[in-house]
Amino acid sequence: MRKLNLLFVIAFFAVFSFQACHYQAHHDHDHDHFHAHPILYATLYQQYAAEYRALCYQAFNLASMQLEKEVAVGYDYPLAVVVDIDETVLDNSPYQATAILEDFGYPKRWAEWVELAIAEPVPGALEFLLEAEEKGVEVFYITNRKEEFREATLKNLLEQGFPYADDDHLLMRTVENDKEPRRRMILEMYHIAVLIGDNLGDFHSTFDTDQADLRMEYTDEKKLEFGSRWIMLPNAIYGTWVNALPGYEHGITPDELAFELQKGLKGF
Ligand SMILES: [Mg+2]
Repeated sequence: MRKLNLLFVIAFFAVFSFQACHYQAHHDHDHDHFHAHPILYATLYQQYAAEYRALCYQAFNLASMQLEKEVAVGYDYPLAVVVDIDETVLDNSPYQATAILEDFGYPKRWAEWVELAIAEPVPGALEFLLEAEEKGVEVFYITNRKEEFREATLKNLLEQGFPYADDDHLLMRTVENDKEPRRRMILEMYHIAVLIGDNLGDFHSTFDTDQADLRMEYTDEKKLEFGSRWIMLPNAIYGTWVNALPGYEHGITPDELAFELQKGLKGF
């Protein structure tokens, strides 16, 4: 019996050390080729941090309070809620995750992801927009997705149960990224109760600049709008803020980009 026990212990350690060596070798091999992708932490934050979730709920709770206030005021025009789509009502983090795992950058394989039409709602988005519908407030989606993605975008929104997911309420990117002309179109017939987005350009075109100091300045100027007429969602993965970073270059590899961007870090 004791002999059997000893044999068992030896066998256990033999298997265990083989596994450990195997793991170590594999791990080292991966490390040799591993460089942190510029969006690694940001993507994990969106996918795993309950804090991200809480920020989204906070944003839509504020939107709800704002909407209630505006409904109570009563305007001559019918009310509308205007939302952006990506990282405002639909979560594209699986696309970003695959970009990290397979080491590519936007716009590579973006079309493939959009056509799948499987993006899930940003926490709180669906509930808020259904609440707007219930209050008789129309929802408009202003997105900079290209016109060619209209059908896939509507399919995705509809399958997730979003209200007003139809051609009349979906304003895709036209000739320009600037969303102001599309906001104006809505303003001709509606009073916009609240604007919701993850990029400052979703609120005002003054923010559509890649000059970081100007973006900061305009944000300070407009600080009272945030949390009332303008509701901001967190997006640490991408946006105009990335293009405004010192050292940002379009079209270089994720590796090269990480190298350039770290030069802008403000240390002590
Ligand atoms: Mg967006």
